[in-house]
Amino acid sequence: MTRTGFYPGSFDPIHNGHLDIIGRAVKLVDKLVIGVAVDTGKSALFTLEERMEIARQETAHLQNRAEIVVHGYAGLTINAARSLGAQILVRGLRAFSDFEHEFQLTAMNQQLDREIETVFLMADPRHQAVASRLVKDIVSMGGDISPFVSEAVKRRLVAKLAPT
Ligand code: ADP
Repeated sequence: MTRTGFYPGSFDPIHNGHLDIIGRAVKLVDKLVIGVAVDTGKSALFTLEERMEIARQETAHLQNRAEIVVHGYAGLTINAARSLGAQILVRGLRAFSDFEHEFQLTAMNQQLDREIETVFLMADPRHQAVASRLVKDIVSMGGDISPFVSEAVKRRLVAKLAPT
């Protein structure tokens, strides 16, 4: 049986915290579907196509560890996970502040689908605090985002947001 994981998020854009979680998730599954949410709940900087393209480029080097597929999805995460045949929902836990929301979400997802298990992974402490929103704030104020994203993602962010 192919063990499939689904890792959902807005990935606007993908950063070192996400990549750390993906690097850990591929140790647990044969196939990892990175679910890029159509609806981010906030206005996205990058289009869905851009967010998917960046995610593909940034994970290309991990393809030898597991099959990695980038998939856009709309609607309920648990429904997307089920329709893709995933047995595992992968979530990254950043800090204590994530816990309460994730706890509630997982408890409700358990009621919505009894077959899919949520697995929480913790990033390396160096990457734990990284959040797309903060990376965007830093670049828009002329700060250096090299510790948080790849060179390619940095170039894209600078092109869109850096002050001239
Ligand atoms: P962001 O908050 O950076 O926009 P997303 O909303 O796309 O990220 O998050 C997708 C998933 O990745 C969530 O499970 C989230 O908890 C996790 N995640 C995001 N940033 C980190 C990080 N720095 N360390 C660990 N997990 C993270």
